[in-house]
Amino acid sequence: MSKLNTHLFTLLIILTYTVVISCSSGKNRTTVSSPNGKIEIQTSKINGNLYYQIKREGKVLIENSLLGFSLKEGNLTNNLKITKTQYSTEDSYWDQPWGEETSVHNHYNQMRVSVEEQLSKMKFEVVFRVFDDGIGFRYEFPKQDNLNEFTILDENTEFNFAQNHKSWSIDHNIQYYEGIYETKYLSEIDTVSTPLTLESEDGLFMALHEANLTNYASLNVTATEGTSKLKTYLTPWSTGEKVFLSAPCVTPWRTLIITDNAGDLLLSRIMLNLNDPCRIEDLSWITTGRYIGIWWGMHTKDYTWHTGPKHGATTENTIRYIDFAAEHNFQGVLVEGWNKGWDDFNLSFTESYPDFDLKKVTKYAKEKGVLLLGHHETAGNVENYEQQMEEAFQLYQENGVHLVKTGYVAHLLNGKELHGSQFGVQHYRKVIELAAQYQIMINNHEPVMPTGLQRTYPNLMTQEGVRGQEWDAAHVDIGGGNPPNHTTILPFTRGLAGPMDFTPGTFHLINPSLPTPRVWTTLAKQLALGVVLYSPWQMASDKIENYKDNPAFEFITSCPTNWSETVVPHAKIGEYVTIARKDRDSENWYVGSITNEESRSLSLPLNFLDSNVTYKAKLFRDGDDADYKTNPYSVLIEEIEVTVDSTLDLNLATSGGTAIILTKQE
Ligand code: CA
Repeated sequence: MSKLNTHLFTLLIILTYTVVISCSSGKNRTTVSSPNGKIEIQTSKINGNLYYQIKREGKVLIENSLLGFSLKEGNLTNNLKITKTQYSTEDSYWDQPWGEETSVHNHYNQMRVSVEEQLSKMKFEVVFRVFDDGIGFRYEFPKQDNLNEFTILDENTEFNFAQNHKSWSIDHNIQYYEGIYETKYLSEIDTVSTPLTLESEDGLFMALHEANLTNYASLNVTATEGTSKLKTYLTPWSTGEKVFLSAPCVTPWRTLIITDNAGDLLLSRIMLNLNDPCRIEDLSWITTGRYIGIWWGMHTKDYTWHTGPKHGATTENTIRYIDFAAEHNFQGVLVEGWNKGWDDFNLSFTESYPDFDLKKVTKYAKEKGVLLLGHHETAGNVENYEQQMEEAFQLYQENGVHLVKTGYVAHLLNGKELHGSQFGVQHYRKVIELAAQYQIMINNHEPVMPTGLQRTYPNLMTQEGVRGQEWDAAHVDIGGGNPPNHTTILPFTRGLAGPMDFTPGTFHLINPSLPTPRVWTTLAKQLALGVVLYSPWQMASDKIENYKDNPAFEFITSCPTNWSETVVPHAKIGEYVTIARKDRDSENWYVGSITNEESRSLSLPLNFLDSNVTYKAKLFRDGDDADYKTNPYSVLIEEIEVTVDSTLDLNLATSGGTAIILTKQE
């Protein structure tokens, strides 16, 4: 387990300056540009409305788009006056305790536009930050006499894209974001969740999302009928209102990454930079690693969550999993179905089933150097969970359980509120903050869409909010089976929102308990997904029996989950992607390359390696006769010597992949 020392997280400010450059008042048009001068935001006040526009290299990407709100207390869109504009700039670096790379550059120019509604005298400010790879802006409500507690009926922010781009998104009604991303022109989308990813005809890539979703509702966007002009639709409360606030307060940041190629979308850190710095002082208990679990066996109907003759979470079975984890270099074991209440979903978070001895298994895990991953399935009953939460975290802390997978499988929280509503956002935050007090890391399933909060709370390790591997075990009549191109889209869409607990690494690709579903990949692609889909806690999803004596398992047991550098040599959304990452704890690199249903050859220059040294490349690749439908298990393992000047020819089978370990030679 890679212990993350607190010194790693020391804020390394190489160069920081924040200067107010100028201050003007009353102007109807203001602009701010990115540090490299390529991206420009202009705000204009036209007939009492406030608009913003985004250009890149002189070309308009977002045409004049409305800013403002409709409040229960009155209008904050019309009859506005710009009272002040302030500029500042920031250029600094900070270190991530864990992540896709160690150091993050935070470099932007800022423009703060202060606005007043001329009749009511209600005020707000819009803060724009322009980075070299995109923009972010948010609203701030200062403390003021004429606006204290208020209700947002609608946020009126528009995103009027100048062209009808090709896009990838999921409908906002899809439960827990577990959907297939659809490729559509902007004008064809209905109401979708963000991230919304776009490709222009002239080869520009953009991704619309949000950062630091705190005490607010999650962002969705709707195309104004038949056009590429998008309007904001905030996830409402059951009563129809969107957000209840009290000034002073701020909204989440609305973010747009803008890059020249799809791979660079994955390297933008705008979302993390727009979250607040770390609020947890002692990070010594926060770790990363690989885990296995008593879980896939439930999907294959070998085990049940509830107690009975096929109960999965028994003391004996858990010990068997702990032994396997210790033997094969896994840092964690997840145990689902350990607690009382699975029969009627009146769940207890402190009482074990009689055949599960929490003290005994946690003591045994500790002796073996393995972390037990706790499990809190709430079934959406937030009220029941919040009543027991503190006692439950206390129990886990006493027994050395430092990582908990939470779950919210129910269409509505408390039978009433949507996961992405302000209610849901408030609840999930309560869990993260309370867990931190008890030194517990969170793996949140059925969450609200992530927005980079792991910068502030690095105990928020990974989240679901994705149609993961579990869907490959589900019956086809509930839509089971992820299509071969699914994982070639995810890094560019849901992946931009943060770590995904997709749970790759299934070795038995057929679920014997059901006739129809399949894991629609080759075995080599399952290995490559461990690099392609980032998660600081990465699950090997299959039952342990299914890994025994398979030489391909070596890749899973060697692949790290914490990185110092990431590069993206190949990226074509929906077709193929190759990602190379450098281990945080060694000089070694790991590569994952995957394709959709088409077989293809990719040439991979190893120019990211150190020069003047040799590396041993161990390739786990599709056999020449591999095919995801007819021959998915054919894997070849090869070793060759390479250097920075080498180029590898990757031959990927249909829905296939290649996984590579590059070990630096002394
Ligand atoms: Ca799920």
